[in-house]
Amino acid sequence: MNPNVLQTPIEYLKGVGPNRGELLRKELGIHTYQDLLNLFPNRYIDKTRFYKIKELQRNNADVQVLGKIIHLKTIDQKKGKRLVASFVDDTGKMELVWFRGQKWIRENLKINEPYVIFGRVNYYNGFSMPHPEMELLSTYEKKLRTAMQPVYPSTEKLAARGVTNKTTSNIIQQLFLETNGKFLDTLSPAILNELKLIPKSEALFNIHFPKSQELLAKSQFRLKFEELFYIQLQLISKNMLRKRKIKGYPFYQVGTFFNEFYNDHLPFELTGAQKRVIKEIRTDLGSNAQMNRLLQGDVGSGKTIVALMTMLLAIDNGFQACLMAPTEILATQHYHGLVALLIDMPITIQLLTGSTKTSKRKEIHADLQNGQLHILIGTHALLEDKVKFHNLGLAIIDEQHRFGVAQRSKLWHKNEQPPHILVMTATPIPRTLAMSLYGDLDISVIDELPPGRKSIKTVHRYDSNRLKVFQFIRDEIKKGRQIYVVYPLIQESEKMDYKDLMDGYESIVREFPMPDYQISIVHGQMKPADKNFEMNRFVKGETQIMVATTVIEVGVNVPNASVMIIESAERFGLSQLHQLRGRVGRGAEQSFCILMTSFKLSNDSKTRLETMVRTNDGFEIAEVDLKLRGPGDIMGTQQSGVLNLKIADIVKDNDILKLARQFALKLLKDDPTLAKEENQVIRFAYSQLMKYKNIWNYIS
Ligand code: ADP
Ligand code: MG
Repeated sequence: MNPNVLQTPIEYLKGVGPNRGELLRKELGIHTYQDLLNLFPNRYIDKTRFYKIKELQRNNADVQVLGKIIHLKTIDQKKGKRLVASFVDDTGKMELVWFRGQKWIRENLKINEPYVIFGRVNYYNGFSMPHPEMELLSTYEKKLRTAMQPVYPSTEKLAARGVTNKTTSNIIQQLFLETNGKFLDTLSPAILNELKLIPKSEALFNIHFPKSQELLAKSQFRLKFEELFYIQLQLISKNMLRKRKIKGYPFYQVGTFFNEFYNDHLPFELTGAQKRVIKEIRTDLGSNAQMNRLLQGDVGSGKTIVALMTMLLAIDNGFQACLMAPTEILATQHYHGLVALLIDMPITIQLLTGSTKTSKRKEIHADLQNGQLHILIGTHALLEDKVKFHNLGLAIIDEQHRFGVAQRSKLWHKNEQPPHILVMTATPIPRTLAMSLYGDLDISVIDELPPGRKSIKTVHRYDSNRLKVFQFIRDEIKKGRQIYVVYPLIQESEKMDYKDLMDGYESIVREFPMPDYQISIVHGQMKPADKNFEMNRFVKGETQIMVATTVIEVGVNVPNASVMIIESAERFGLSQLHQLRGRVGRGAEQSFCILMTSFKLSNDSKTRLETMVRTNDGFEIAEVDLKLRGPGDIMGTQQSGVLNLKIADIVKDNDILKLARQFALKLLKDDPTLAKEENQVIRFAYSQLMKYKNIWNYIS
């Protein structure tokens, strides 16, 4: 069949027309025949089974019952009326209920005739079924039916405008009629054979009209594989193209600075994971291609030292390096940390943030341009156009998820030839998600914590136990430890949160009075200078308690702090809780994390708290987070479009994803431009996808 037919606007399909066409476009994003063909059912219902009324269960989902209506009545309710039918079979009685379309039903329903009804049952003083699908037994028997009935995605608006599941199914049937159900295959014979996949036409038919469970499973597998395969193909070829097209500065030398630091100044033995990652980075930097690497490592896994050693490689080769952090506190801390590590080495390093004074700023700009400055640390301020480098060879971004792709690309343009890029993130992304999201980045993982860390003990306490918690704080302070108390600050309700924070602060000041106790407070509404001042008092150990909002979340390093108390912990997301907890457990002492909540907890909150108490493993936590929130919510991935999956599920279809990636890699390695005869099927399908797939994303 001519593939262009599939690009026909949907309203031309018989049974659709302009009105429904408009509705389908708006509600489901269906613009063309192709889009409709790819509207895959969410689930299937087994309509081979008939239930008896007495068999119905309170939690029954969709059931099919054979019986008849013996009585019909209209009942007044607060708003409008409802139509209620008494429906019986030889075992019992239930009610059918309509809130809309009552006139039509009243006029058309036949009393005392056998009907097959289908729908979801409710239980309230007996069973009822709102808005059932109904068919006279006589009609039902005449129809050819498959065992599995698809249930299509729908919206309230579609339902209200009469586009029911049956309608959708019917127009898809029409589509198969008009196209003969013959579709070009989109995978090569080689792949079909190797994986024993069923042909495209067969898969599409059975996904909509399954002939059997077995064929349905095969169809699902084939279509999921295909979907993931083309995403991987796109990501991998983008990556390969970049490597081919975009030259990087080769850092051939592992020179004096790197070696001197490694031999004389490294304050500890590197972990195996750190060594491995540095090796991966060195390999990238030594090649002619530009590095674009994502470095994942749980909080406290020691990414900073890896960043430093990478910067030394740049300097060894005559280049400058920069490190960008999302907050001023974090940039400042990086700066001081790196200055301390580099103290005995002739390396120049500066800090540039929003609050850098103009005179200092001018000095930095000048030194940057004449090449005297080796390393620049800073916030977004680095991205300003005025900041020009002599020769930037490496840009490191800490805590990726706070920066967008746009900012990454701004760094790219800080130089004629883009610098090598290392993105560091402490929010572990499940590997599967990372592969899909950052398929165009190479990934390194630090999966080992420095030795001697005691794992943090985490407990969940209710607000009613506060006095005990205060006593615990007192004991820890007596031992010389420091404490964080963190309050949620969520933008929309900032004022209220701010009040919570101040109330909390006051109650802590009351409980821990001066001069025995000193307390710091840091929140987003403070001036940067005040924030720094308070932060520094805590870093220096002058205050024992730090009351803060989540500004403290990212990167701050105070090894003597051993207790993290998180107030209203039920309001935080999992990855945020994990980030916060990572602020403690950095010293030699046993550390604690106390999650304070009220008694009112949703199921999701309970799962989050239980997960935190159970494990310290950031990757495990990320997996749970992904399951709770779905990939769309994680790190604003909605925009990436990569996850706009039609049939595959990034979490559940992990194995298929791996397989798809493996096949895509193999294919592109063997035939990078898809020039070979046997790959023309894929080349064509891919070009069609590129041509049509994303258009509507931009428009709607
Ligand atoms: P993160 O990955 O969260 O940025 P950091 O780089 O801040 O972690 O490191 C956390 C702490 O662990 C720092 O105090 C750092 O000095 C220390 N550290 C890092 N690597 C090692 C190591 N190999 N052995 C011992 N301590 C280390
Ligand atoms: Mg860090």
